[in-house]
Amino acid sequence: MLPNYMESIRHDWTKQQVEDLFEQPFNDLMFQAQSVHRKKFNPNEVQLSTLLSVKTGACPEDCKYCPQSARYDTGLEVEKLLAVEKVIEEAKLAKDAGATRFCMGAAWRSPKDKDLPYVTKMVQGVKSLGLETCMTLGMLEENQAQALADAGLDYYNHNLDTSPEYYGEVITTRTYSDRINTLGNVRKSGMKVCAGGIVGMGESEADRAGLLMQLANLPQHPESVPINMLVKVDGTPFENAKDLDPFEFIRTIAVARIMMPESHVRLSAGRESMNDELQALAFLAGANSIFYCDSLLTTANPKANQDMALLNRLDIVPEKNKINMDPSDQEETLHKKILSAKTDHLFYNAVN
Ligand code: SF4
Repeated sequence: MLPNYMESIRHDWTKQQVEDLFEQPFNDLMFQAQSVHRKKFNPNEVQLSTLLSVKTGACPEDCKYCPQSARYDTGLEVEKLLAVEKVIEEAKLAKDAGATRFCMGAAWRSPKDKDLPYVTKMVQGVKSLGLETCMTLGMLEENQAQALADAGLDYYNHNLDTSPEYYGEVITTRTYSDRINTLGNVRKSGMKVCAGGIVGMGESEADRAGLLMQLANLPQHPESVPINMLVKVDGTPFENAKDLDPFEFIRTIAVARIMMPESHVRLSAGRESMNDELQALAFLAGANSIFYCDSLLTTANPKANQDMALLNRLDIVPEKNKINMDPSDQEETLHKKILSAKTDHLFYNAVN
């Protein structure tokens, strides 16, 4: 039986309550998270997203984890905004390989007005394939968010990254409230919100609690909550960050699941270095979304066929797309994919 406070959608979490969740015995936490998960979701489904970098590197921001910042010498090859046709071609391949959501990322502080016609065309083109669309382009003004919403963009990703207290150790070129404002503009435009953070950046458990408290206490929970494990990239200030105990990562997922019971919690960056057992534990903790592609913007991700093999071993099936596709067609396509699991060559790596 779950405590009453876990039965409802809440926006009034205190730091102490969140820290108490973290500090429970691991098995108790896992049991609660899985119990909450089962009330809202099919526990044997995960949502599959594919992520494509549509503009790589040369970002003026100073996020200390990010190889795309122009401030760090990471050897990253800079790429201009991809042609709209190229993006649509990649989206078709991703759809054929079983993805239901196509996310497009650009390394910008915020999009310029001259960029918007291109990105809105990308949205329209990808959406016309029957895929859900998501973009991450940096900070958005109200009118920019509205333009993207009008083009049909389903989700906008903008992470809070960490707690307000630790934030200054990670980024100095934009403030926490800049981020909250962007999320407000996205919400106001009618788009769905994708917002999460990164763990393993040297933050404390209290900071992980603080991040989840900020996300859950937004006026509406983000529909998608990516939890990223830091990928330590040579040349970034966090290249030598101390390893986080993997069980702390699992705890973060479990607490996110309990606090935001109706959100998709995404097991995001860092999966490349996780073994199958750890990923299975993340699913048990309530993660129900993954990025399913060879690279995450600029860092490696498990090969698509490894993902399918893992899902197959766990009897987990891809969640159905909610839009524009006949359910029987979709089921057939996805099941075909999960069984054949030979999709490697279909992915284009925008970086290497
Ligand atoms: S995380 Fe985004 S905003 Fe920060 S440096 Fe990287 S691309 Fe730029």
